[in-house]
Amino acid sequence: MKIPPLVDLGPELNADEMRRYKRHVVIPEISLEGQRRLKNAKVVCIGAGGLGSPILMYLAAAGVGTLGIVEFDTVDESNLQRQVIYGHSDIGKSKANCAKSRVTEINPDIRVNVHELQLDTTNAIDILKNYDLIIDGTDNFATRYLINDACVLLNKPYIWGSVLRFDGQASLFWAQYGACYRCLHPVPSIDSPSCAEAGVIGSLCATIASIQATEAIKLITGIGASLIGSLIMYDALNLSYETLKLSKDPSCVLCGENPTQTSLMQDYAGFCLPVIPGEITVVELKEKLDSEEDFFLVDVREPHEFEIVSIPGGHLIPLAGFLDGSALKKMPLDTEIVIYCRSGVRSATALKSLRDAGFSRSSHVIGGVIAWAQQIDPTCTVY
Ligand SMILES: [Zn+2]
Repeated sequence: MKIPPLVDLGPELNADEMRRYKRHVVIPEISLEGQRRLKNAKVVCIGAGGLGSPILMYLAAAGVGTLGIVEFDTVDESNLQRQVIYGHSDIGKSKANCAKSRVTEINPDIRVNVHELQLDTTNAIDILKNYDLIIDGTDNFATRYLINDACVLLNKPYIWGSVLRFDGQASLFWAQYGACYRCLHPVPSIDSPSCAEAGVIGSLCATIASIQATEAIKLITGIGASLIGSLIMYDALNLSYETLKLSKDPSCVLCGENPTQTSLMQDYAGFCLPVIPGEITVVELKEKLDSEEDFFLVDVREPHEFEIVSIPGGHLIPLAGFLDGSALKKMPLDTEIVIYCRSGVRSATALKSLRDAGFSRSSHVIGGVIAWAQQIDPTCTVY
């Protein structure tokens, strides 16, 4: 797909820059104009690991004027097999700061913004809105969905890549022109292993990262055919590429014809955990309570009903809070949530709000307090 340059022309190049970028400028498609667009571009890379290392180094070398690095981790010895931006003496140090020094050493003329934090629902929009283009160098589903959702909501292009063992994939999502990541994966494929579990060939990271960096340069300067609408699948073991066509899913909850998701989810980590069945019986609830399992029990009735009778350990958060969204902020992240009401009707409504917000480890109690009184504790008052 051919689309206009993402970034406006920046100021003229000075004599030093003319020398530095000579090999770019002689390419007719790039020329001085393309180099001035690169100089004016603001690109953020989420994660400075196997993919982020070459992405950041190549974009710095290419003269991308502003680079953002989002990374909260420290350098571990096991990173050095593929995260080529770091050296042995960096072990134990902040990845974000080490990556900044390395790219500044490659190109002292560019501006580097360090965001030493974990990208989450509370900061993603504020950080990503300052950049023209977002590149994903992460290796977990929760952050990937978060980046995708923020990019769709901000209408920003998102260059995605993923690697595992000998296989790599890459694409460019931009809802304005084509599919988003949710069109490709409406729900997380939670059974796929991570690089930490399954391993990855270090040099494969460079192959995929190089595709991502090249797509960034093409998009900024408006040259060539963009990866939008295509998914590249690379098999390093057999040295073969496959390109699949990607179309927008009209029923996508985020970028489809009738989007139901109009803001970020509250709990991306929960969304990416195995989905548990949405209903439990009072007998199952009793077993959970007796085994002192860690879960958050919510009573969605009104305060006067709660006073009459309640199930031990229940936190009173009336249904209205789930309907206007205010209750979602009171929900614990990464913990299973069980909801009950009088008969199971209101709790089913609250459950839907929870699931829509990403709390996939949530369920409601069939029959509510009435079933509890009938089957578990006959001393309870039924009203
Ligand atoms: Zn979509």
